[in-house]
Amino acid sequence: MKILLLGPPGGGKGTQAKFLIEKLNIPQISTGDMLREHVKNKTDLGNEAKSYMDSGKLVPDNVILGMMKVRLVESDCNNGYILDGFPRNLQQVENLNQLLIELDHTIDIAINLKADENELMKRLIKRSKNSGRSDDKIEIISKRQKVYWEQTAPIIQYYKRTGILIEVNGIGTIAEITGRITEVIK
Ligand code: ADP
Repeated sequence: MKILLLGPPGGGKGTQAKFLIEKLNIPQISTGDMLREHVKNKTDLGNEAKSYMDSGKLVPDNVILGMMKVRLVESDCNNGYILDGFPRNLQQVENLNQLLIELDHTIDIAINLKADENELMKRLIKRSKNSGRSDDKIEIISKRQKVYWEQTAPIIQYYKRTGILIEVNGIGTIAEITGRITEVIK
């Protein structure tokens, strides 16, 4: 099963992805985690991405595409995967579509974990206290929200039109939300 996990920063994508990894025995592919690993290891890609990440902006599309091209051909992706944090704008949707054609892959479902902005800010501020992430400062958190609503939210409409979008209420306990996701991936 190939799943897109969509939704705003703080929407719970990472938390729910962990559950899906276990349940479906497929990897989570988080562009944010991959980029942080590159930054930590000071690779060329990481050095290029760091300033964008630290200011809450999107890393250039060609950098992300290069990273995904390498990742999606790895053998653990054969039985499926959960894409978390990609695609993040309409250009990346196009890039992903092209890549999927090349790989002969099809996305089965796009799950949009929904939450309102107040709830998201509350969660992100709480998380920032012990995340150790350099982009978890209040002004950068707000910037990431703004980028989400301006650049990423439009892709929800795209997946709605293609018919693979499922909306899941992301407000509630972790277990409640996991329960809702379990229902939709049956
Ligand atoms: P969030 O908590 O905001 O969902 P992520 O861990 O997904 O954070 O991403 C952190 C940062 O990494 C983003 O603010 C952005 O700079 C960069 N990033 C992650 N995924 C992408 C992507 N698909 N395209 C561009 N930039 C990305």
